[in-house]
Amino acid sequence: MNARYANMPVTVFERISARARAANAINLGQGFPDGRGPADVLAAAARALEDQSNQYPPMTGIPELRAAVATHYNRHQGLDLVADEVVVTSGATEALSAAILAMVAPGDEVVLLQPLYDSYLPMVEQAGGVARLVTLEPPAWQVNPQALAAAFNAKTRLIILNSPHNPTGTLLAPETLAQIAALCCRYDVVALCDEVWEHVVFAPAQHRSLMHFPGMRDRTIKIGSAGKIFALTGWKVGWACAAPDLVRVVARAHQFLTFTTPPNLQHAVAYGLGKTDDYFVGMRSDFARSNDRLAAGLRAAGYHIADGAGTYFIVINLPASGLMCSDEAFCDASLEDGVAAIPMSAFYAAAPRRDHVRLCFAKADSTLDAAIERLCTTRQRLLQATSVSSR
Ligand code: PMP
Ligand code: GLN
Repeated sequence: MNARYANMPVTVFERISARARAANAINLGQGFPDGRGPADVLAAAARALEDQSNQYPPMTGIPELRAAVATHYNRHQGLDLVADEVVVTSGATEALSAAILAMVAPGDEVVLLQPLYDSYLPMVEQAGGVARLVTLEPPAWQVNPQALAAAFNAKTRLIILNSPHNPTGTLLAPETLAQIAALCCRYDVVALCDEVWEHVVFAPAQHRSLMHFPGMRDRTIKIGSAGKIFALTGWKVGWACAAPDLVRVVARAHQFLTFTTPPNLQHAVAYGLGKTDDYFVGMRSDFARSNDRLAAGLRAAGYHIADGAGTYFIVINLPASGLMCSDEAFCDASLEDGVAAIPMSAFYAAAPRRDHVRLCFAKADSTLDAAIERLCTTRQRLLQATSVSSR
């Protein structure tokens, strides 16, 4: 067997969700909302299942969805994409895998920012790429410009970016995007931009695609996910957008990963992307409210939470919350009290920080309130344990 897979652990999301189910805990670990998603998008999927073909759709996606993705980005992000620059995939995960396989040949260097989303590094390594890690430092979780510049050289082929950023809920600073654009142009590097959280951004923060920066229109592969845009994470409809020369090769990789994606879901997403602005504004303000509710409740319980700019996640700073335990010890303790969370160390490829914990706030108010109460108990318990052991 391939040792990479034979020795690979199950993903942290799957492990923590399984433990949450077994403990009957509130699951603030894996990032998924507990709502049903927009009723009209669900109805469009049901209708398409009855009325449209259920045979193989075209390999790069149904024409309606490819056009809808391009139009959506042109309308919401001021881009100038056309339908032929879109390939539809089974989730952003597949789009990322296809793009990495399409761009990286053995020995190529790939710049990655950590903490990082868990699917990037295994695919880079499987492609034979060599990872060059640049670490984001709290509290702002931004890049040191010298470290970023030092990660590029003549062997660099790709940089993988994720903004808005999972797990920290921050956005990369515009100066960093400008620096990345300049480095990509200087070293002839392609940027793979994981922008799945592009619509889950809270005012005054604003998402800006790297594709806008000088020289980046033809060297950016922009990844999106309907799962995040419509709070339907199980649908696994995603896409990669890039200039024709790049997207053509991404499609070659995609054709032997999944080839296509369920046609009724594609029709429903094509419909949904055309929804009026009030849906997107309302979705953002609902999530911003949940973010504020969980953050405020936890702050009142003595936790230190930085202000988040986007995604479904907030981050607890353990030492600033008076807690000297590791992130894993905290997550074990919170699970005992009935709340599952993700230790930040799970998002590092090397030299992990072990002093932050990620929580998903995309839940009903009553669920968040119950979680706050339980996490209040966890903090008290851990504080007492430390004061007893130091006596
Ligand atoms: N990238 C990031 C940063 C994510 O947070 C996620 C899902 N949470 C994905 C990719 C995967 O998206 P999908 O479910 O569409 O495959
Ligand atoms: N992206 C989700 C998260 O960060 C999980 C996705 C998955 O479980 N693969 O929680």
